[in-house]
Amino acid sequence: MLCPDEVRELASEILCEFKSHKPVLDAKVTVEYLFAIATEEDAPAIMVGGYPALGMCRIVGEKDRAKGCKDVEITIDREWWNGAEREEQKALLDHELHHISVVEGKRDSNGRPKIRLRKHDVQIGWFREIAARHGQHSQERQQAKSLIDDWGQYFFPEIVGPQQPDRVLAFPAVAKG
Ligand SMILES: [Zn+2]
Repeated sequence: MLCPDEVRELASEILCEFKSHKPVLDAKVTVEYLFAIATEEDAPAIMVGGYPALGMCRIVGEKDRAKGCKDVEITIDREWWNGAEREEQKALLDHELHHISVVEGKRDSNGRPKIRLRKHDVQIGWFREIAARHGQHSQERQQAKSLIDDWGQYFFPEIVGPQQPDRVLAFPAVAKG
Protein backbone atom coordinates (compact mmCIF):
# COMPACT_ATOMS: atom_id res chain seq x y z
CA MET A 1 0.00 0.00 0.00
CA LEU A 2 1.04 3.61 -0.50
CA CYS A 3 2.55 5.27 2.55
CA PRO A 4 0.61 8.02 4.27
CA ASP A 5 1.68 11.64 3.74
CA GLU A 6 3.75 11.72 6.95
CA VAL A 7 6.35 9.47 5.26
CA ARG A 8 6.50 11.62 2.15
CA GLU A 9 6.79 14.76 4.28
CA LEU A 10 9.59 13.31 6.40
CA ALA A 11 11.40 12.25 3.20
CA SER A 12 11.18 15.79 1.77
CA GLU A 13 12.56 17.13 5.02
CA ILE A 14 15.52 14.70 4.84
CA LEU A 15 16.22 15.47 1.18
CA CYS A 16 16.45 19.19 1.97
CA GLU A 17 18.33 18.83 5.25
CA PHE A 18 21.31 16.73 4.10
CA LYS A 19 23.57 17.99 1.32
CA SER A 20 24.40 14.49 0.04
CA HIS A 21 20.85 14.35 -1.38
CA LYS A 22 21.27 17.51 -3.48
CA PRO A 23 21.80 15.59 -6.77
CA VAL A 24 18.49 13.78 -6.15
CA LEU A 25 16.67 17.10 -5.78
CA ASP A 26 18.53 18.72 -8.68
CA ALA A 27 17.70 15.86 -11.06
CA LYS A 28 14.08 15.90 -9.84
CA VAL A 29 14.10 12.18 -9.10
CA THR A 30 10.59 11.02 -8.25
CA VAL A 31 10.10 8.51 -5.44
CA GLU A 32 7.15 6.31 -4.55
CA TYR A 33 6.88 5.34 -0.86
CA LEU A 34 5.24 2.02 -0.11
CA PHE A 35 4.44 0.13 3.07
CA ALA A 36 5.00 -3.62 3.07
CA ILE A 37 2.73 -5.72 5.25
CA ALA A 38 3.59 -9.29 6.25
CA THR A 39 0.96 -11.69 4.99
CA GLU A 40 1.83 -14.47 7.42
CA GLU A 41 2.57 -14.19 11.11
CA ASP A 42 6.30 -14.18 11.95
CA ALA A 43 7.16 -13.85 8.25
CA PRO A 44 9.14 -10.74 7.36
CA ALA A 45 7.29 -8.17 5.28
CA ILE A 46 10.42 -7.42 3.23
CA MET A 47 13.20 -9.70 2.05
CA VAL A 48 16.37 -8.37 0.41
CA GLY A 49 18.82 -10.90 -1.01
CA GLY A 50 17.25 -13.65 1.07
CA TYR A 51 17.44 -11.74 4.37
CA PRO A 52 14.67 -9.92 6.23
CA ALA A 53 14.89 -6.14 5.94
CA LEU A 54 13.05 -3.14 7.36
CA GLY A 55 13.28 -1.19 4.15
CA MET A 56 14.39 -1.44 0.58
CA CYS A 57 15.14 0.85 -2.32
CA ARG A 58 14.51 -0.16 -5.91
CA ILE A 59 15.14 1.65 -9.16
CA VAL A 60 12.07 1.43 -11.36
CA GLY A 61 12.78 0.07 -14.85
CA GLU A 62 12.41 2.21 -17.96
CA LYS A 63 9.33 0.33 -19.14
CA ASP A 64 7.45 0.97 -15.90
CA ARG A 65 8.60 4.59 -15.88
CA ALA A 66 7.19 4.88 -19.41
CA LYS A 67 3.86 3.68 -17.99
CA GLY A 68 3.89 6.54 -15.51
CA CYS A 69 5.62 4.99 -12.51
CA LYS A 70 8.04 7.02 -10.44
CA ASP A 71 11.82 6.65 -10.81
CA VAL A 72 12.48 4.96 -7.48
CA GLU A 73 10.44 2.84 -5.11
CA ILE A 74 11.17 2.83 -1.38
CA THR A 75 9.39 0.16 0.62
CA ILE A 76 9.19 0.18 4.41
CA ASP A 77 7.98 -2.44 6.86
CA ARG A 78 4.75 -0.87 8.13
CA GLU A 79 4.72 -2.71 11.43
CA TRP A 80 8.26 -1.57 12.25
CA TRP A 81 7.46 1.99 11.17
CA ASN A 82 4.44 2.22 13.41
CA GLY A 83 6.44 1.08 16.45
CA ALA A 84 9.57 3.14 15.77
CA GLU A 85 10.53 6.51 17.20
CA ARG A 86 10.59 9.45 14.82
CA GLU A 87 14.39 9.69 14.88
CA GLU A 88 14.60 5.98 14.03
CA GLN A 89 12.12 6.42 11.20
CA LYS A 90 14.16 9.35 9.94
CA ALA A 91 17.42 7.36 10.02
CA LEU A 92 15.90 4.43 8.11
CA LEU A 93 14.32 6.66 5.50
CA ASP A 94 17.61 8.56 5.11
CA HIS A 95 19.37 5.19 4.64
CA GLU A 96 17.00 4.19 1.85
CA LEU A 97 17.26 7.61 0.18
CA HIS A 98 21.06 7.39 0.42
CA HIS A 99 20.89 4.37 -1.93
CA ILE A 100 19.82 6.72 -4.72
CA SER A 101 22.84 7.76 -6.74
CA VAL A 102 22.12 10.00 -9.71
CA VAL A 103 24.26 9.47 -12.80
CA GLU A 104 24.99 13.10 -13.59
CA GLY A 105 23.95 14.40 -16.96
CA LYS A 106 22.41 11.11 -18.14
CA ARG A 107 18.76 10.45 -18.90
CA ASP A 108 16.84 7.34 -19.91
CA SER A 109 14.63 7.08 -23.02
CA ASN A 110 11.74 8.66 -21.07
CA GLY A 111 13.89 11.67 -20.32
CA ARG A 112 14.00 10.61 -16.67
CA PRO A 113 17.26 10.78 -14.69
CA LYS A 114 19.55 7.76 -14.78
CA ILE A 115 20.03 6.34 -11.32
CA ARG A 116 22.26 3.73 -9.77
CA LEU A 117 21.82 2.03 -6.43
CA ARG A 118 24.55 3.19 -4.08
CA LYS A 119 26.03 0.17 -2.33
CA HIS A 120 26.48 0.00 1.43
CA ASP A 121 29.84 1.16 2.79
CA VAL A 122 29.78 -1.95 4.93
CA GLN A 123 28.18 -5.22 3.92
CA ILE A 124 28.63 -7.92 6.51
CA GLY A 125 28.31 -11.69 6.09
CA TRP A 126 29.79 -13.47 9.08
CA PHE A 127 29.50 -16.88 10.73
CA ARG A 128 30.07 -16.92 14.49
CA GLU A 129 31.28 -20.52 14.26
CA ILE A 130 33.91 -19.75 11.61
CA ALA A 131 35.25 -16.85 13.71
CA ALA A 132 35.50 -19.24 16.67
CA ARG A 133 37.14 -21.99 14.59
CA HIS A 134 39.73 -19.92 12.70
CA GLY A 135 40.18 -16.88 14.96
CA GLN A 136 42.40 -14.17 13.51
CA HIS A 137 42.75 -16.07 10.23
CA SER A 138 39.04 -15.82 9.50
CA GLN A 139 37.60 -13.04 7.34
CA GLU A 140 35.07 -12.55 10.14
CA ARG A 141 37.75 -11.45 12.62
CA GLN A 142 39.85 -9.59 10.07
CA GLN A 143 36.89 -7.60 8.81
CA ALA A 144 35.74 -6.89 12.37
CA LYS A 145 39.22 -5.56 13.15
CA SER A 146 39.33 -3.25 10.12
CA LEU A 147 35.83 -2.07 10.85
CA ILE A 148 36.88 -0.98 14.35
CA ASP A 149 40.28 0.37 13.25
CA ASP A 150 39.04 2.33 10.24
CA TRP A 151 35.44 3.26 10.97
CA GLY A 152 35.02 2.50 14.64
CA GLN A 153 34.08 6.08 15.42
CA TYR A 154 31.03 5.76 13.18
CA PHE A 155 29.77 2.35 14.18
CA PHE A 156 31.17 1.75 17.69
CA PRO A 157 31.65 5.20 19.26
CA GLU A 158 31.18 3.74 22.75
CA ILE A 159 34.19 1.46 22.21
CA VAL A 160 36.48 3.58 20.05
CA GLY A 161 35.86 6.94 21.67
CA PRO A 162 35.44 10.38 20.15
CA GLN A 163 36.02 11.28 16.54
CA GLN A 164 39.62 11.47 15.40
CA PRO A 165 40.24 14.08 12.67
CA ASP A 166 42.72 11.90 10.73
CA ARG A 167 40.14 9.13 10.53
CA VAL A 168 37.57 11.50 9.05
CA LEU A 169 39.95 12.20 6.17
CA ALA A 170 40.24 8.46 5.51
CA PHE A 171 36.49 8.20 4.97
CA PRO A 172 35.70 8.00 1.25
CA ALA A 173 33.71 10.85 -0.25
CA VAL A 174 30.11 10.28 -1.20
CA ALA A 175 30.06 8.77 -4.69
CA LYS A 176 28.70 11.04 -7.39
CA GLY A 177 28.09 8.70 -10.27
ZN1 LIG B 1 20.52 -0.38 2.48
